[in-house]
Amino acid sequence: MAHDYAKAFYTSDRWIKCRTGYMKSKHYICERCGDVASICHHKTYITPENIHDPNVTLNWDNLESLCQTCHTQEHRSHGIVAEGLAFDANGNLIQKK
Ligand SMILES: [Zn+2]
Ligand SMILES: [Zn+2]
Repeated sequence: MAHDYAKAFYTSDRWIKCRTGYMKSKHYICERCGDVASICHHKTYITPENIHDPNVTLNWDNLESLCQTCHTQEHRSHGIVAEGLAFDANGNLIQKK
C-alpha cells in the first residue's frame, strides 16, 4: 500500500550501490559519535516529492553514516517519527501504513 514510493527506492540497485559505496568510504563509522554506523541517513529527508531526484537521493553530499542511536535521535529531533514514520530493518525511514 502506501509508501511503496520509499520501499521501491530503498530496495533499488542504485540506492544499494550508492549507500554501500558511501558507507565504505566512511568505514562504517558514525559521523556523529564514532560508533559503528549501520544507517545511511539522508540529510534532506526523502519525500514523495524528491524521491526521484538523484541530487537528493543519491548525492553523497546529502548522505550521512550514522549509528542506530544517532539516527533515531536525528529523526526524533525533527518529530518525523511521530508523524507516522518508522524505521525498517535497515534503519531506513519508511511510512507505517
Ligand atoms: Zn552515532
Ligand atoms: Zn535518516
